[in-house]
Amino acid sequence: MEESRPVLMEVTRLWKTYGAGDARVHALRDVSLAIRGGEFVAVMGPSGSGKSTLMNILGCLDRPTRGSHRLLGAEVSELSASRLAEVRNRTIGFVFQAYNLLPRTSALANVQLPLLYAGAPRRELRRRAAAALARVGLQARAQHLPSELSGGQQQRVAIARAIVNRPRVILADEPTGNLDTRTSIEILKLFQELGAAGITIVYVTHEPDVARYASRIVVVRDGEIAEDRPQAPAVARPSLEPAS
Ligand code: ADP
Ligand code: MG
Repeated sequence: MEESRPVLMEVTRLWKTYGAGDARVHALRDVSLAIRGGEFVAVMGPSGSGKSTLMNILGCLDRPTRGSHRLLGAEVSELSASRLAEVRNRTIGFVFQAYNLLPRTSALANVQLPLLYAGAPRRELRRRAAAALARVGLQARAQHLPSELSGGQQQRVAIARAIVNRPRVILADEPTGNLDTRTSIEILKLFQELGAAGITIVYVTHEPDVARYASRIVVVRDGEIAEDRPQAPAVARPSLEPAS
């Protein structure tokens, strides 16, 4: 990655410790990592190695025990709660393994939620949510409930929700963990398209087959970064069947 790209998020000598005394767990130990604009990063590592802890701190969903965490150059611990919420909502979209959609609410209404939080004008909500759903190929499913959608479609709704505020970064924690291989590759293809459109992508996966699509691999082991290297990304090919 070119050094000229701006650093969007950075942790330096970061520690995260849970519990106390004999029950103390160092989930992250002295981790330093910078994510630059335009990167496409796969975070790998065994279960319990600290991947989610790292993602949650990068996403400002959790706070470090010690060390520095910067978002767009600002030290996160020095931001007021309201300023942090504003910067986070504008900068970061989240995608989770379990989709985390509201069950009794249509795809369109799920995608509108972050716009409501961001205080977008009401007339804009529907238009922008519909555009985000179209971006992930689900315009025809806008009125469906999550239970009426396949796992891959639900995850695409979650991705539409993640991009509706036009974030600079998507943080995705095992986004394909509940999906079969073919569907996983469709999700990675979508990430590659979003990446080509300028969104920075950081995603966690256990699976080498899913990590192949990234241009940088970060391996976390026992709370430390064990490897951090560029790779030539595979190009995700779409299936020939209609995606929706
Ligand atoms: P991964 O996502 O790589 O599976 P995690 O970041 O979830 O790993 O967890 C890293 C370590 O921190 C594990 O040992 C886990 O048990 C511990 N841990 C994570 N969250 C908590 C918590 N809220 N309280 C106590 N320990 C935790
Ligand atoms: Mg995890």
